[in-house]
Amino acid sequence: MSKLGCKCGYVIVDQTDSLPYKARLLRDEAEEAYWREFERQIKTFVAAVEAGDKACYVAEYGTHSPWIKSSDLLINRLSSIQAHHETTIYECKGCGRLWLQKPDSKQFVSYTSEENEYRAILAAASGDGDQID
Ligand SMILES: [Zn+2]
Repeated sequence: MSKLGCKCGYVIVDQTDSLPYKARLLRDEAEEAYWREFERQIKTFVAAVEAGDKACYVAEYGTHSPWIKSSDLLINRLSSIQAHHETTIYECKGCGRLWLQKPDSKQFVSYTSEENEYRAILAAASGDGDQID
């Protein structure tokens, strides 16, 4: 996603990393499968390394491209698992509306903020401290 037009008229732009108005969502129903796949990938990789047979891992999960390290292949596999299970959330800087991506879809649904203002609720440091409303 690169741009999402909000109902308030603001255009949410996603064309770089570390956006304070974007987050990833892992649904509780998907969490077990997510971690199970992570664990399987890591155990398979570690077993191949311990056996001195990284080529076996590469053969099972990728091509034998000489320029791709087996550790890069593992990272690619973990990123793929993350992308499969997680969806995206945006907070509109114009009105504070949250936009949640539907599972297995590129569609978003919105939820309005009670204050109708951007509160940086998805930012790593929202500036609100430990305040609980
Ligand atoms: Zn908006």
